[in-house]
Amino acid sequence: MTTASTRTPSATDNRDVSGPPALSADHLYRFYRAGEEETLALQGVSLSVRAGEMLAIVGPSGSGKSTLLACLAGLDEPAGGTVTVAGHRLSHQPERSRAQLRARHIGILLQSRNLLPHLNLLANIKLAQAATRLPARRPAASELLEQVGLGDRARALPRQLSGGELARAGLAVAVANDPEVILADEPTGELDGDTEQQVLTLLRQRVSDGAALLVVTHSADVTRAADRVLTLFDGKVQS
Ligand code: ADP
Ligand code: MG
Repeated sequence: MTTASTRTPSATDNRDVSGPPALSADHLYRFYRAGEEETLALQGVSLSVRAGEMLAIVGPSGSGKSTLLACLAGLDEPAGGTVTVAGHRLSHQPERSRAQLRARHIGILLQSRNLLPHLNLLANIKLAQAATRLPARRPAASELLEQVGLGDRARALPRQLSGGELARAGLAVAVANDPEVILADEPTGELDGDTEQQVLTLLRQRVSDGAALLVVTHSADVTRAADRVLTLFDGKVQS
């Protein structure tokens, strides 16, 4: 396995427009069958996101956004097509390989939170970091909590946090391994305006540091902050 990385640590403009995309999907198909009924959730979706780019995915409920995100994260397998992350093929690999690639290269931020309820914030981050089995090149767990303004809540359990604090803690876990790619499914869906701005600012900061961000959203503010917007309709990208 090669260790292709499109991350560039320069402080000013980290956009890498020359290299391969950090994440790409080529003609993804995904069907769901329930008895006689077949739902065509994804019908040939292709997209790519580069390092230092934020892509927003919008579209009505049922258009396939969550299915797409699950395939891009390697949590679900497309029936057809390929997903490539940081130069590695993610789709049509054994579950173990997908889990490794996901842990190393992808940060996932979901509306239903990515924190384990019985572990404090520090332990949640350390658990995410332990999943990669890589030598530690990433920021310390306490440093990650500082970055999202939760330095003084390291020993708190998720249930002891406010909604806004939970959202920021979820973000700290998502970026615990300094991922090239961040996938977010309506990360600000349940948040008030101020908290949405905080989370958006933190995400944009990651993008200017060179991460590729793909975010599914219904929020006009999040869409405005994106470099590019794709609309999904009936499992297809609308042009
Ligand atoms: P969105 O996130 O845009 O609301 P989804 O990806 O959740 O859309 O769903 C796309 C389509 O696939 C919908 O018609 C939905 O009902 C269907 N679908 C999603 N998940 C399943 C599933 N596990 N079993 C059957 N149908 C599903
Ligand atoms: Mg959805």
